[in-house]
Amino acid sequence: MDNNTTPLLEVEGLQMHFSMKGGAFSRRAGVIKAVDGVTFKVFPNETLGLVGESGCGKTTVGRAVLKSIDPTGGKVIFHSKTGEKIDFVPMTNKELRPYRQEVQMIFQDPYSSLSPRMTVQEILEEPLRLAGHTDKDYLYEQAKIMIEQVGLRSSHLMRYPHAFSGGQRQRIGIARSLITRPRFIVADEAVSALDVSVQAQILEILAELKEKMGLSYLFISHDLSVVKYLCDRVGVMYLGRIVEVAPTDALFNNPLHPYSEALMHAIPDISERQIRSDILAGEIPDAANPPSGCAFHNRCKYAKDKCKSEIPELRGFTDTLDGKEIFRESACHFVEEIFYNHDKEMV
Ligand code: SF4
Repeated sequence: MDNNTTPLLEVEGLQMHFSMKGGAFSRRAGVIKAVDGVTFKVFPNETLGLVGESGCGKTTVGRAVLKSIDPTGGKVIFHSKTGEKIDFVPMTNKELRPYRQEVQMIFQDPYSSLSPRMTVQEILEEPLRLAGHTDKDYLYEQAKIMIEQVGLRSSHLMRYPHAFSGGQRQRIGIARSLITRPRFIVADEAVSALDVSVQAQILEILAELKEKMGLSYLFISHDLSVVKYLCDRVGVMYLGRIVEVAPTDALFNNPLHPYSEALMHAIPDISERQIRSDILAGEIPDAANPPSGCAFHNRCKYAKDKCKSEIPELRGFTDTLDGKEIFRESACHFVEEIFYNHDKEMV
């Protein structure tokens, strides 16, 4: 992605801190920094993946970006189709309403987001009704267009969600999310609940619709093979921070952060139980009591004294991929020493 292109979304220093009160039976009190200074950009017609072990904050980032939870700090700047540059963070729900059609979410569990008492037609038309559309012919026409876009038939509009398989329900969920013609979508574990063969079909639909409708996705997943298939660039999260951002092929072939390097050995699935302990030693630390300095230092085979006291910033690097210059970022004090001067022998 050309770093000079105007982004669609700019997330700057996003924070989501939760205070933890010590109760009668617990002495623990303090602040959990679920998201702590996350910065990234999503460009027009780009899919940015967000990966990390469970509890790293990736789902919280997705929800905070769409303001389904209120961030405790930072900026979420959206470039609207009217040319305005809007920061979602300080806005009220009422102020956000005009922009809701431009940003949407695709959920992991489509069944829970589809009302069992509504027909598919009513489910698809609802976001348009909420946006003020009342013309029945228009609503039906839009529902018909969208159901066909996701590979179902207009005859399906009269049925109820229980009549569909998991994959079909996810197609309906996608049609509902896209019916207001959004430009930016947060997809959180959008295919995780599906069988592998169905996953492949849904990923293909998401990729096709991205091209047809000019969409950008923030694609949150713990499954690296899915991310590798769909994403243009990937951000890697660890304990509430982004530790690396790179074009997908560059990240998978040549990671520039010790944590990403360890994750690449965990393909295809980085759910905790599948990460081999010889690759990534130790547990993820408690988010309420993270290690000082680089939060990864207690699991990092390259850690030195500086890592225990200084938090590494996300720094930009130019690199080459297939003969082209690319931009990438890593938050490690010793990137140059570890990845550029050493032979990259993996553990
Ligand atoms: Fe490892 Fe230190 Fe780099 Fe953190 S800053 S990833 S502990 S080498």
